[in-house]
Amino acid sequence: MTVELISVGTELLLGNIVNTNAAYLSEKCADLGLSCFYQSVVGDNEERLAAVLKTALERSDIVILSGGLGPTEDDLTKEVAAKVMGRQLFMHEPSKKRIEEYFTSRNLELTENNWKQAMIPEGAIAVDNENGTAPGVIIEGEGKKVILLPGPPNEMIPMFEGGIMPYLAGDEGTIYSQTVKICGVGESKAETMIKDIIDSQDNPTIATYAKNCEVHLRVTAKAADEKEAKKLVKPVVKELKNRFGPYVYTTNADITLEKAVADLLIANKLTVSTVESCTGGMLAARLINVPGISDVYKSGYITYSNKAKRKILGIKKGLLEKKGAVSEEVAREMAKGAALISKAEVAVSVTGIAGPDGGTEEKPVGLVYIACNVCGKIKVRKYNFRGNRAKIRETSVSSALILMRQCILEYYSEVAFDRK
Ligand code: ATP
Ligand code: MG
Repeated sequence: MTVELISVGTELLLGNIVNTNAAYLSEKCADLGLSCFYQSVVGDNEERLAAVLKTALERSDIVILSGGLGPTEDDLTKEVAAKVMGRQLFMHEPSKKRIEEYFTSRNLELTENNWKQAMIPEGAIAVDNENGTAPGVIIEGEGKKVILLPGPPNEMIPMFEGGIMPYLAGDEGTIYSQTVKICGVGESKAETMIKDIIDSQDNPTIATYAKNCEVHLRVTAKAADEKEAKKLVKPVVKELKNRFGPYVYTTNADITLEKAVADLLIANKLTVSTVESCTGGMLAARLINVPGISDVYKSGYITYSNKAKRKILGIKKGLLEKKGAVSEEVAREMAKGAALISKAEVAVSVTGIAGPDGGTEEKPVGLVYIACNVCGKIKVRKYNFRGNRAKIRETSVSSALILMRQCILEYYSEVAFDRK
């Protein structure tokens, strides 16, 4: 089945708001196993919206529109969709009642145009809006489905998850998904490693998402009930864990990389300190975001200047002059020094050139060294990151977390990590 998205709103065209609805809906549709080949953005204009919807209906099975379900004159998505589908609008009593209740319970004054929101195309299904007044609408006809959702994400998302996903998964069916999170393996490498599984699977489906040095594989099954769906997901998750081995850091969608690292420190009763140059505290901030980190986190140092590296960490002036602040040797000394002064079992250092200036032929922008010291065993890695200053710094932080995880696992178990 194919799905097509239409985001309605002139403010989207003007760039006043970011089209987060389209990003969200694309991801969810992929989870549902629907193929999305087209997406468009159209302003609040009757003719152009009708034209986009007609085109979408010619080439896709399901068309999902978001925005323009509000009470005002420029909100015309429902009116246009009804016209294109050849339906009259009629007053939907349950929606009218809901709107009435919504306003009275909040002591708000109801105006005449609010009733427009209770009008539903004949033969359509109204989908309750738990967080606003405009109901969602599903219009079925000629083998197609047209789904209308409100624009505000806080209304659209709960409606999609509560009312639309179960509908798209099939009347009596359900969908269940589990996420396998991997770090330390690049996206294309990860995809090649499981290409055969992706190609041969139809239910469950596997969707890959690459974000910030991580690859998330979402395994989604459709079945008559949850138990059945879980049974379909289980062997695929097991196979993914087999293939990626220690690179899988969790199969729980709620666990972040920093949380996984914090849990590893806590489980091994290891205290930790961070020492940063180009990331300026971002690594410390990400770790400290994790509730409960206070059990293990000791100190964070930002040693940005050479003088700070000398004064705080005791790095020799001669070494800084000879090798430069961005070097394997200095990264190592930073991780050594931080462990020594903070008395932490684990110390991680980051030193690099985030740009845009400061790069040379020998040491280009994006060159970063990260060192991890676990109880005196120090590993230093050299990275050549791409992107602007913000991207290089963000990637450095994620890479430091990945290196920490790998070093702790290597120290306490037999696993060895390569760079993939
Ligand atoms: P309302 O009842 O608030 O008018 P609506 O269904 O008519 O809702 P719009 O008027 O199109 O929706 O948009 C209302 C608000 O919802 C926008 O100002 C914007 O904040 C948010 N919004 C709309 N479309 C999107 C989108 N595609 N991505 C993110 N936010 C959106
Ligand atoms: Mg509106």
